[in-house]
Amino acid sequence: MMGSDSCGGYRCVECSDEASELYRDYQRGVLRLSICKSCQKPVDKYIEYDPVIILINAILCKAQAYRHILFNTKINIHGKLCIFCLLCEAYVRWLQLQDSSQNIDPDDLIRYAKEWDFYRMFGIAVLEQTAFLVGIFTALWVARAEMLKTKSDFILLLKALLLSSYGKLLLIPAVIWEHDYTPSCLHLIKVFVLTSNSQAIRVTLNLSRKFALLAILSGLLFESGVVYLFQRTGLNV
Ligand SMILES: [Zn+2]
Repeated sequence: MMGSDSCGGYRCVECSDEASELYRDYQRGVLRLSICKSCQKPVDKYIEYDPVIILINAILCKAQAYRHILFNTKINIHGKLCIFCLLCEAYVRWLQLQDSSQNIDPDDLIRYAKEWDFYRMFGIAVLEQTAFLVGIFTALWVARAEMLKTKSDFILLLKALLLSSYGKLLLIPAVIWEHDYTPSCLHLIKVFVLTSNSQAIRVTLNLSRKFALLAILSGLLFESGVVYLFQRTGLNV
């Protein structure tokens, strides 16, 4: 069953079974949604939906909406989205750093030091994100090596994880309204991102909720390992 992308590469949003087409075109503007052979429901009801409705369904972490986005669309913004989210994260951390070290002196040297601080925060955010992903892949590899045996399985999961981190965009208000953001807000954003990450793993690999959560935990473990290493080496985060 796995890896046979020859039949169109689409998936039923209800049961995740493979499908050759999402709809059939009967000419003169008559389209009919294809019906899934195994669950007898429309393969992808979302192709008729408004993008806003699809987004709301994705925010509600509905597995069907995740399947639609990951398997049945050609959405290809995960790379840009990832870099943008990392930049936002770096900026928020940089702001926190500025708060903790109050310097009003507009000296050039300090300005350069601040700029360097931003690059440092960006580098740390990149390393943490990488450690998180490595942790997830390691856990899944150890538990079920056969699920990640081809390059396309690997790329699909990576894409799913990066896309499902879109919740980090909620950091943008933090960038705009700088000081009105409380740490609990940042924690809530983190919980939301982790929930959608776990749903993305579940949908991509057809796993149980428990397995997906374990993978996320392993990711968090790797991430905190990296943070710990930074603190030990004196590169304060
Ligand atoms: Zn189905």
